[in-house]
Amino acid sequence: MRVVELGEGEPEVAVVGAVHGDEPCGARAVERLIDDAPRVERPVKLIVANEEALAAGVRYLDDDLNRAFGEDVSEGSHEYELAPKLAAELEGCIGLSLHSTRSTDKPFAIANTRHDLAPRVCPYLSIHAVVELTQDEGRIFAADADLIELEAGLQGSDDATENAYRIAREFLTAVGVLSGETLARELPRFELGEAIPKPPGERYRVLAENFEPVAAGEAFAEVDGEALVADAPFYPVLLSAEGYADIFGYRAQPIDPLPAPEAETPR
Ligand SMILES: [Zn+2]
Repeated sequence: MRVVELGEGEPEVAVVGAVHGDEPCGARAVERLIDDAPRVERPVKLIVANEEALAAGVRYLDDDLNRAFGEDVSEGSHEYELAPKLAAELEGCIGLSLHSTRSTDKPFAIANTRHDLAPRVCPYLSIHAVVELTQDEGRIFAADADLIELEAGLQGSDDATENAYRIAREFLTAVGVLSGETLARELPRFELGEAIPKPPGERYRVLAENFEPVAAGEAFAEVDGEALVADAPFYPVLLSAEGYADIFGYRAQPIDPLPAPEAETPR
């Protein structure tokens, strides 16, 4: 794990890349911030988390790091041993963890309703929506920190790297690390629901658009040419043919948008 601190004192803000090693945008954005070495108004920690998985170009070596937090350490697993080390770096921090996806090129945030950073900061980020979940499920949200995850765009794309870098700077401006102002706006918000299981098959295809409504009775995906039909209306999130081994993605529902904060940028 690479950790670089900018500024004087103990950082209470962090930006994390490479929780998943096959999503290079986060590490690239973090390296670019390190190279920029900007003047900071408050100290910040810049982290490349799973350097070994990043070097190997794989999501993880042994276990998904983003399911390994708040769980007992499983000995001999690289990620189960890395998770408490990353959690210790993040303890007491607010932060942004950078990811990318196979599902959509639209950047969006994932937040846990247990925390209050997202409502204060997400309206300042140039993202499509915020997706809220209520379970930690061993994700980085289980760390003793208040974090937002960013899905910066399509995995491996230059756009994802550009988005990750731009939005990380917006985040750092919104929380007072970088000077300047960011504009806030009302932000669409979704509540994450159940996973959509992937039946066994050879060829998978997605027909629905992420964040766009799917009606009851509408075909939203195909397995070996056979349609999967929605039994109830939903909004797909993280829906992709090849993103996960056992699920297509998730059902979500829109909830009240996040209002643009009236106060000055949060600190
Ligand atoms: Zn990821």
